[in-house]
Amino acid sequence: MNRRGYFGKYGGQFVPEFLYPALTQLEKVFWEAKEDKEFLEEYDRLLAEYAGRPTPLYFAQNTSKLMGCRVYFKREDLVSGGSHKLNNALGQALLTKYMGKKQIITETAAGMHGVATSMAANVIGLSCNVFMGVKDIERQKINAEKIKLLGGNVIAVTRGSGVLKDAVSEALVSWIRDLPTTHYLIGSAVGPHPYPTIVAFFQKMIGDEARKQILKKTGKLPKTIIACGSGGSNALGIYQAFVKDKDVELVFVEGGGTSLKGTHHAAAFKEGSVGIFQGAKTYLVQDDYGMDRKTESRSAGLNYPARGPQLSYLYKMGRLKACVASDKEVLEAFEKMGKLEGLLPAFETCHAIAELIKRRGKYKKDDIVLLNFSGRGDKDIDTAIKLRI
Ligand SMILES: *Cc1c(COP(=O)(O)O)cnc(C)c1O
Repeated sequence: MNRRGYFGKYGGQFVPEFLYPALTQLEKVFWEAKEDKEFLEEYDRLLAEYAGRPTPLYFAQNTSKLMGCRVYFKREDLVSGGSHKLNNALGQALLTKYMGKKQIITETAAGMHGVATSMAANVIGLSCNVFMGVKDIERQKINAEKIKLLGGNVIAVTRGSGVLKDAVSEALVSWIRDLPTTHYLIGSAVGPHPYPTIVAFFQKMIGDEARKQILKKTGKLPKTIIACGSGGSNALGIYQAFVKDKDVELVFVEGGGTSLKGTHHAAAFKEGSVGIFQGAKTYLVQDDYGMDRKTESRSAGLNYPARGPQLSYLYKMGRLKACVASDKEVLEAFEKMGKLEGLLPAFETCHAIAELIKRRGKYKKDDIVLLNFSGRGDKDIDTAIKLRI
């Protein structure tokens, strides 16, 4: 083990030795690419013309009235494909091309990352295999179909509980088989070094844009930034531009609390501990033997048992405040946003909104709260209808 890729004591490369060459090559190409004018120009062009960046910063007037302060949404739901995930998928797909590899593999839960990866692979001219747990395919039928329509191959994973972490394991096996020609495109700020660093880099425009936009609109920085998350890609995406501003409170909302079914929770900060998971030392929900416990959050996108190493570090340092939202609160937030703002957020995003609503009346009139509106909720409408009594 070397000390590269650590955030405090979190991160690292806990992988079998034969993966090192692929990770080393990825790291090398990434460090070159992020300084390469041609690479950055091509990335920026795709972000602007294909993904639809910069995304707007929306002054949520009705939510502001309800809250008693000024609330702004960073509209990542307007990124093509419906969430922030395309930002990272485009970046890594371009890296794949720069490495001279022809194929991308990945895994997906809610399907959003699979959709984004298929889009990115397609536009950059790469083939794409998406591993998806059978339970998640069942929960997210439309997205599974969408992946196929966008030129990707969906590979159904039956082992384990047929959810995200099983799809990750299966994708890893496939990667090892085709290492020289294949890039494993990880969708969040998790996994072995250099992935957390790469994903955070390819999401950092969220905060860079938001910072400029909020200063232009209001002349000051937000009091609080709220983001939902699992691995933390959208959260780090918006936090990075504000981490050094000690007066800006950073709030992270994970799935958990009382589940509607009374089953396990996915709250790795609130209820988990530090362990090794999928290549990195990080916070996760685990049992006494260091095995990850089965998690069950209503939103498939937050049903991942681990937080990323950089997020874990910010949490441990006290820079980040962690909260949980229950499935019930998430559903209430979903319904409230439709009526209040005419927006249907992804269930993941509803975690952040639920925390926002809990803070009603706690701010002064001129305080600014910035919420990362990570995705749209089309994929969750079916579930919302079924859960309504
Ligand atoms: C995937 C997803 C998330 C969670 O992923 P992070 O990497 O933690 O950001 C949040 N919101 C939406 C809309 C998503 O699709």
